[in-house]
Amino acid sequence: MKIICIGRNYADHVKELGNEIPDEPVIFMKPKNALIQGHTPFYYPEFTNDLHFECEVVLRICKNGKYVPERQAPNYYNGYSVGIDFTARDIQDECKRKGLPWEKAKAFDNSAAVGKFIDIAPNSGFNKKPVKFSLKKNGELMQDGNSDEMLFGFDSLIANISNYFSLNIGDLIFTGTPAGVGECVVGDELDCYIGAEKMLSVVVK
Ligand code: MG
Repeated sequence: MKIICIGRNYADHVKELGNEIPDEPVIFMKPKNALIQGHTPFYYPEFTNDLHFECEVVLRICKNGKYVPERQAPNYYNGYSVGIDFTARDIQDECKRKGLPWEKAKAFDNSAAVGKFIDIAPNSGFNKKPVKFSLKKNGELMQDGNSDEMLFGFDSLIANISNYFSLNIGDLIFTGTPAGVGECVVGDELDCYIGAEKMLSVVVK
């Protein structure tokens, strides 16, 4: 499996990092080793001094495909959750400055925490309803997102991604983070919600 991530998909977040609004999805990937689920501990990486959380809606791919038309896209995912795209912001800033790839900042071991999934029933119109999601750090609300505000919606992302990368059963798509990203340190507890339901809890060790 692979983890496909979208950057700069919420205008408020694009602005908070001083980036430009993209005219097509910004895509990057994380390897399988990045994934943590359930009670796997998250250890603060040694190579960064500025670890950020980015709370995002995550889609679960259920069908293999390439060149998926947008109208067919809902057939290709059957579950959603929230995840944290852990980012070594200092490393990322350095990579951006030097025009280098972001992998060291974004794709390191355990950098993709994913909560429990909610199944999406076929033809349920999931793609037409907004997903409200949030992240609390030590109980304080830091990010409050609504998938309605994505620059590129779920189906548009599936179509665009599949022009470049075949989708395979079990792949995950991190669909971008809203404003409010910030630093976390050892001892912080990060809790992610869909609506009022807690889907993921990570303690930074
Ligand atoms: Mg992100």
